[in-house]
Amino acid sequence: MDKKFIEQQKEQLEAQKTKLEEQLSSFATKNKEVEGDWAAKMPEMDTGKSLEEEADEVEEFGTRLALERTLETELKKVILALERIKKNKYGVCEKCDKPISQGRLKVYPQANTCSKCH
Ligand SMILES: [Zn+2]
Repeated sequence: MDKKFIEQQKEQLEAQKTKLEEQLSSFATKNKEVEGDWAAKMPEMDTGKSLEEEADEVEEFGTRLALERTLETELKKVILALERIKKNKYGVCEKCDKPISQGRLKVYPQANTCSKCH
């Protein structure tokens, strides 16, 4: 795969990584030991709240958790793709070892499978 294309993909991936980390940091805490691992912050639980308020917070936490998981999954894919660039394995399908089309990679730079294995 040509170097220029990989350079462009790398830039895209790095921009995405920054963006995802920014989004995550607004409501989750980074695990410093494991790259790409985040935990959603618990809402502050103070006493003196009505059951209704507490129910709202639990619901909000559920939403946060779901969002956190979605963003974290994407972030992990981005990190893996960056690692594959380093190892010169970028753009190779993880399942069948065939090259992933550049068109697919352009739309989704962190793709780790080809369109057939998707
Ligand atoms: Zn494949």
